[in-house]
Amino acid sequence: MNLSSRLNETAKVHAGKPAFYFLDQATSYGELDAAVTKFASGLERLGVQKGDHIALLLGNSPHFVIAFYGALRLGATVIPINPIYTQEEIGYILQDGDVKAVVALDLMAPLAGKVANLLPGIKSFVVCPTKPDVNLEDVVQAHPKMKSFTSVIESGSLDFNHPELNEEDVAVILYTSGTTGKPKGAMLTHRNLYSNARDVGAYLKMNDTDRVVTTLPMFHVFCLTVVLNAPLISGATLLIVPKFSPGEIFRLSQKFEATVFAGVPTMYNFLYQFPEGDPEKLKSLRLCISGGASLPVALLKNFEQKFNVVVSEGYGLSEASPVTTFNPLDRPRKPGSIGTSIMNTENKVVNELGEEVPVGEVGELIVRGPNVMKGYYKMPEETEATIKNGWLYTGDLAKMDEEGYFYIVDRKKDMIIVGGYNVYPREVEEVLYGHPDVVEAAVVGVPDPNMGEAVKCFVVKRDPDLSEKALMEYCTKYLAKYKLPSTIDFIEELPKNTTGKILRRALKDHVLQS
Ligand code: AMP
Repeated sequence: MNLSSRLNETAKVHAGKPAFYFLDQATSYGELDAAVTKFASGLERLGVQKGDHIALLLGNSPHFVIAFYGALRLGATVIPINPIYTQEEIGYILQDGDVKAVVALDLMAPLAGKVANLLPGIKSFVVCPTKPDVNLEDVVQAHPKMKSFTSVIESGSLDFNHPELNEEDVAVILYTSGTTGKPKGAMLTHRNLYSNARDVGAYLKMNDTDRVVTTLPMFHVFCLTVVLNAPLISGATLLIVPKFSPGEIFRLSQKFEATVFAGVPTMYNFLYQFPEGDPEKLKSLRLCISGGASLPVALLKNFEQKFNVVVSEGYGLSEASPVTTFNPLDRPRKPGSIGTSIMNTENKVVNELGEEVPVGEVGELIVRGPNVMKGYYKMPEETEATIKNGWLYTGDLAKMDEEGYFYIVDRKKDMIIVGGYNVYPREVEEVLYGHPDVVEAAVVGVPDPNMGEAVKCFVVKRDPDLSEKALMEYCTKYLAKYKLPSTIDFIEELPKNTTGKILRRALKDHVLQS
């Protein structure tokens, strides 16, 4: 089984049913599957072959879904790239990823000539409209390697000869940002992606009655597996949101009676704070999924109470396609925990020697299962350092309780050492989030002449009168002395990446440079 043939199977059962709504317009499974086949065939006619690498520089849109499944159907390897990356970042990935074809928004068209000169290995550029009324046939005149998305589909045939796909073939290469050095390309096979979509879908009981709000960016693995592949192979309907907007989430959820919402913690914060966030509009939701970063317990509880919904937190990383744990639906959920291992996936907490530590002790979380990547593209040494004896070393510190629930303590590299004591930023952030006038908080370690490092906090406050002194006093009630903030800076907004993760690194760099 692989995602593309599974979509084909789903389309046979649900031909007339909407696979997705985009701008309130439905596309049925039958239409989607036909477009996918024709796109695969059209790509083949352009000279793209099984095994070639295709970069997708697209936001959330039908083009992404069709291009992604179309490329897989052809047996090509997809490299999804965040379209708002800088030219340097995109150029690096196109070159390192040995890309042969690019599917991108028309905004990128003026760059096609430059890219074609610099990277002659790229044979085709397929251009998609940013807006429905853009005339792409004029745009593509600018360079002979450019074709419009529509013309590629129109040139394709439904008689396309589906190539044999091997489950160990690489389906996707995900360039993960990494904090040191250049991004690394995590190679995910057909087996990796299919098994994780199937297993997480089963764990979260996704089925053909679900309507899933798809607002996370599709180029990120959380969206790709949890809110694109898992629902599509379950016969559910996607409600594709081009860009996260609280108003749009409330509108769509009400109009289409959404049953599942997935977001990162900052999205939950925005939805919770949204002044017109009427709980009535979310009443059809059976499940809200959080992942990508830790969900502060206070936010989880406030959100569940305000909207009368269930929020289940899970955990994953690009290298594991991504999901390894989730809070279960048929057993108690534990706020603050990332839940238990999903089926077919094993998680354990180990010490520096790779030995499992006793229940309750902190160590590195390691993972084994069919979802663990094949390795990093063209980086055998990094692969060896990350996958040892079949176990993926996540770089996250965690502990497990006696019932097999895991708790992320923090990133190994974000740990702060104050006078020899370990302080986990997350622990301090949890306390700050518990204060009613704190909207968002991030904690970093900064150099300190006496203690080695000190705890520095950045806070977005709700009440302008909240003072540093008052917040410090509040923290003393919950934190041991060495964990207390040395300073608290109030700022307008915390820096975030496009998936909504708070960038602690950027805050730290800011402190170090000033
Ligand atoms: P990415 O590869 O971009 O998906 O990032 C994966 C990283 O996100 C993990 O290694 C964790 O550090 C972090 N992460 C994902 N889910 C959670 C979670 N529920 N709690 C804490 N950290 C998380």
